[in-house]
Amino acid sequence: MKALDNVSLTVKKGEIHGLIGETGCGKSVTSLTTLGLLDNNAIIRGGNILYKGVDLLELKEKTLRKEVRGNEISMIFQNPSTSLNPVYTAGEQIRESIVLYQSNDKEEAQRLVLDELDRVKLPDPEDVYEKYPHELSGGMMQRIMIAMMLACNSNLLIADEPTTALDVSIQAQFLKVLEELKEKENLSILYITHDMAVISEICDVVTVMYGGQIAETANVHDIFNNPRHPYTKGLIHSVPGVKLNIEEFETIPGTVPRLINPPSGCRFHPRCEYAQKICKEKKPSLEHIDKDHFVACYFWEEVK
Ligand code: SF4
Repeated sequence: MKALDNVSLTVKKGEIHGLIGETGCGKSVTSLTTLGLLDNNAIIRGGNILYKGVDLLELKEKTLRKEVRGNEISMIFQNPSTSLNPVYTAGEQIRESIVLYQSNDKEEAQRLVLDELDRVKLPDPEDVYEKYPHELSGGMMQRIMIAMMLACNSNLLIADEPTTALDVSIQAQFLKVLEELKEKENLSILYITHDMAVISEICDVVTVMYGGQIAETANVHDIFNNPRHPYTKGLIHSVPGVKLNIEEFETIPGTVPRLINPPSGCRFHPRCEYAQKICKEKKPSLEHIDKDHFVACYFWEEVK
C-alpha cells in the first residue's frame, strides 16, 4: 500500500501551514514521516525531508532523537491526556524539558517553568505547576504541551489535530496562543486538521491532501476565494459559516478511497462532479497555475 505519493510541501519560518483533508488522506503519515516516527514495517522508497538544509531521512535514529525531536521539531497530538504523564505534575513535566534543553540549575529551572506557563497564557502559573493532568481541562493540557515544546526551544511545531478534543471556546483560546507565538516568536507551525473553519482562522498557507497525494496548495486567501480543485471546493462548501454567501451547505458524495487499492487515474474521480474520461485513465500532475497556487486537476479552470 502506498500511503503517500509525491507529497511535497514547505513550511516557511514564522508561517502557519495548514494541512487539510478527510481522515485517511495521509496527513498524519506525512507528519510522522517527518519525525521518523513511522511503524517499523513502513518503507520510505524515495524523496527528501529537508530541515535547515539537512535531509532528515539520512539521519540515524539516535541523531533524530538527540538533535531533532524536541530541540528542533516538536509535535503535539490530538489528545493531550495520552501524551502527558499522569503521575507527574504539569510543572514537573515542563521542568524536565527545561533541564534537558536550557538549564539544570534547580531554582532557575523552576522560574523558567513559570515563565513558560505564562507564555502560553495559563492563569495562575504557580497553581497550574502543582496540578496533575487529570486536574486540568483539555485546553489547559494542550497548552502544557505547547509549554513543553517552548521549553525545548523548538523552531517547528507539528500540531496534529490539536483542537479536536476541545470545545469551541477553549479551541479559540488555544488558536490565539498559537497565533501569538507565530507573531512574537517567529515560530513555524504545520497545523494538521480536517476542519476548514480552523484553517480559515489561523493559517497563512494551505495544502489540501486527498488519497495520499496533494490536491491543491495556495495561500489561505486563494484557497477560500478561488479554490480550483473540486475536492477543496467540496470541503469549503461542506462547512456552514466558512463562506457566508452559501445558502445551503453540501456534502461530498462517497468516502475516501482505501489506499490498498486506490482508484485509477485521479483518485478523486469516483466522487468528482467534474470527472471525465481522462480522469479515470491518467493521474493529473500538480500544476503551477498562479504565483503560489498549485493544483492537480485537469479541469481546474472550470471549477467555480
Ligand atoms: Fe475531478 Fe478529474 Fe479534476 Fe480529478 S482530475 S479532480 S476527477 S475533474
